[in-house]
Amino acid sequence: MSHPNKIARHAAADLALYMLQHGYQGTIIQDCTGLTDSMVRAYRQELERSGEINAVTAGKLKSSPRIVDTRRQMASASLLMASYRRIAANPRHQVDVMALTEAYVLYVDAHESYGLGGAPLSINEAYILARDYADDSGRRHIELRHCGCGADYLVVAEQRIAPVCPLCSLKGLDDERHSVGEAMAVA
Ligand SMILES: [Zn+2]
Repeated sequence: MSHPNKIARHAAADLALYMLQHGYQGTIIQDCTGLTDSMVRAYRQELERSGEINAVTAGKLKSSPRIVDTRRQMASASLLMASYRRIAANPRHQVDVMALTEAYVLYVDAHESYGLGGAPLSINEAYILARDYADDSGRRHIELRHCGCGADYLVVAEQRIAPVCPLCSLKGLDDERHSVGEAMAVA
């Protein structure tokens, strides 16, 4: 991607700084901004020096099917993506980073409030899901389906668990199911 004018360069820099402040990994920031690895690293060092962000080591990114390896992870990812789809302008066509970040902040609160258990997805896992959701190749890696219980749930191609509503299939969690179902219905 080239940035032919100063405004586009500023926009890319602003987006990179915003993404760094929210914990996105360098490779993802490069994809979204078109900036080089060394430019993104320079911005990161600048923010680390000023104490705005902590130094982190970038882990290896999981693929979408591995992000939803359990029913609980599937329910958690569904909560995030239902919220993202509501906020984003055109999520089937392109990743809306601002909307994704906004949805992610809401999601982390909801994940804790509704007792989904385990750690919430990382912002980088959220990005991977949003990126695959936006795939225009026609392969439809990811879909949100609606269940009769009121929840919208995520189905990822090649996931290892059955593509059925995770809330309805989680057993012995009636109270949690009730509150999570409500959260997804309004998400
Ligand atoms: Zn259901």
